[in-house]
Amino acid sequence: MEPSHKSESVEADITRIFGVDRRECIRQGICTQCSKPVDVFRDSLSRKEYTISGYCQACQDVEFAEYDKEESWDSVDTDL
Ligand SMILES: [Zn+2]
Repeated sequence: MEPSHKSESVEADITRIFGVDRRECIRQGICTQCSKPVDVFRDSLSRKEYTISGYCQACQDVEFAEYDKEESWDSVDTDL
């Protein structure tokens, strides 16, 4: 799979933060988060997300579950 294009400075930041080369991981089909080989993706959106973040399906699920939780907490605050 081909990684999405980011500027060299952004790539350098990502490599520094995550400690892995995003583009290398994506080309090799490895998750940047858990370092496991990626296998299947649920849909084309998840596949596209992989080329951006390098997250496998399982790591994307965890990541997006966090977002859902934050959103529901926001709505709780609004209701109060
Ligand atoms: Zn993963």
